[in-house]
Amino acid sequence: FPCNLIRNFSIIAHIDHGKSTLADRLLELTGTIEKAIGTNNQVLDKLKVERERGITVKAQTASMLHTFHGQEHLLNLIDTPGHVDFAWEVSRSLSACQGALFLVDASQGVQAQSISVFHVAQERGLKIIPVLNKIDLPSADPERVTAQMQSTFGIDPADVLKISAKAGRGVEEILQAIVERIPPPEGDSLGPLKALLFDSSYDKYRGVVSLVNIKSGQLRKGDKISSCFSRKRYEVMDVGIMHPEEIPTTVLYPGQVGYITCNMKESSEAHIGDTLHRVGEFVEPLPGFIPAKAMVYAGVFPVDSTDFPKLEESIKRLTLTDRSVTVQRESSSALGQGCRLGFLGTLHMDVFRQRLEDEYDASIIITAPTVPYKVVYKDRTIFVRNPTEFPEVTDPSSRVVEVQEPVVKASIIVPEDYLGEMMDLCFNHRAEELDHRYLDTSVTSARVILTCRIPLSEVVSNFFDELKSRSSGYASFDYEDGGYQTSNLAKMCFMLNSKPVDALALIVHRSMQEEVGRTWVKKLHKVIPRQLFEVPIQAVIGKKVIARETLSPLRADVTAGLYGGHHERKLKHLQNQKESKRRMKKIGTVELPQEAFFDILRAQ
Ligand code: GDP
Ligand code: MG
Repeated sequence: FPCNLIRNFSIIAHIDHGKSTLADRLLELTGTIEKAIGTNNQVLDKLKVERERGITVKAQTASMLHTFHGQEHLLNLIDTPGHVDFAWEVSRSLSACQGALFLVDASQGVQAQSISVFHVAQERGLKIIPVLNKIDLPSADPERVTAQMQSTFGIDPADVLKISAKAGRGVEEILQAIVERIPPPEGDSLGPLKALLFDSSYDKYRGVVSLVNIKSGQLRKGDKISSCFSRKRYEVMDVGIMHPEEIPTTVLYPGQVGYITCNMKESSEAHIGDTLHRVGEFVEPLPGFIPAKAMVYAGVFPVDSTDFPKLEESIKRLTLTDRSVTVQRESSSALGQGCRLGFLGTLHMDVFRQRLEDEYDASIIITAPTVPYKVVYKDRTIFVRNPTEFPEVTDPSSRVVEVQEPVVKASIIVPEDYLGEMMDLCFNHRAEELDHRYLDTSVTSARVILTCRIPLSEVVSNFFDELKSRSSGYASFDYEDGGYQTSNLAKMCFMLNSKPVDALALIVHRSMQEEVGRTWVKKLHKVIPRQLFEVPIQAVIGKKVIARETLSPLRADVTAGLYGGHHERKLKHLQNQKESKRRMKKIGTVELPQEAFFDILRAQ
């Protein structure tokens, strides 16, 4: 395929606006996959968790053939995740494209992530094709949403394609627009080989499988190539396109997107953003990517401490498919040996946890998420990613000058009826610089965009759930990095029977310490089973007790209520007890069942 017959594009949208559905229709219409209207194939969502949650986590790609004016074209669709946590994946998959289909739900209208993905695409200089999806819905309001697109993005209403991805209406026009409006990739097929490595996965038998975009030259099976990043040399074993499964082609031309395998054994060798070139040819590396920045950290521990090697192995294997997760060993007196993982956001963390449980059959405990704090001393600044390492700032001998926390610039889009609720929510989470403006001027329930600066630690707790419930599900939310700001924070510890539980330590803003202390102490009181002795439960900052509850002692024999004759039941009960014994975690003299930890940490 010569360059001028290739189009590399992506579909960008707010979550649920129909990206996967449209991708399926495009693949069907071009005969890439069999037609299955009515069923929800979602071919590109390969991971189980993606199918279950209906979100795309890892970018996938698929090539299709489409004949236009008698000419066969090669269209490469590079799918991108739609969630705020995966912005890094979005920008890296977009760098292999020249254009993007920008999908907006005709009934929901412009949402928070519509804005962020649009801006990323625009910054990358992509040709944007605006598409109004779901016009079949009775609640669709194409005129109003087109007006929103015009006022928010300066899109010409005449350029907007109106489709129903579900019913397959208008999809033909999309293919036509891709060919006509998106410029073909540029690339010199006779020049030196430059291949941008933009994604990779690991295969037990073949080693690392990398996705590449050929910027210039040709990549052939048998070629000797080298990495600009590591200078390591490889021999190309297999090359081909994703159609949507791998199809070997023996060669990739400029503009093409495809997979390669070479003798790359370790996933860490496939450096995202790396440039591959032919051995002996000198090339300037292509502009790479800004590496993902972990903004949410949590400790992960095996339920059964003896499983640690297995857990670590599972984490290692999973991080091969998701390189944005950072891993560090950590040990806790309450939970034993574990790992501290860094994630891009809380959804990212949830998805990783589910994948860890699904794909590797591991039972895990995950501690409350924390953000990276900056602790400034006279002569140095350190980052604290684990609450247990946070200094006792209330103690003058700690020599801490100040503490800074990460903040984000948040935007919330909501019908105006909920504006008051949303402002209240933001205030309760220490938001500043609140501002709002109207997205449209509809008489009935106009859309408002609310922006503010808010500490990231507030966002990673239950902010999103509260946002959804207080707006009846109508609000959409997105944020971008807003740097660091000085903040009045302290470490809160929890003591059971005067012994600190390190896994429960957390960082609080001083204005909220009483409230947080009380809530947690109550929560602990509820989930910790009574012991044979009295157990004080305390929340402390430095030496000061902020909140306290007392667990009264238990005396009764557990089997006392089970009278004779019910031997089997009694046996079963003892069995259960034995079972749960195994999962006990001992904190000093207090035995804590695993479930108590799950409850506490989940309820955060
Ligand atoms: P994604 O999150 O952007 O990938 O969105 P999906 O493709 O998973 O679609 C989200 C939901 O919207 C699914 O339940 C789809 O069936 C539905 N959907 C997608 N396109 C249309 C459409 O054109 N009309 C209607 N009525 N529903 C659609
Ligand atoms: Mg999807």
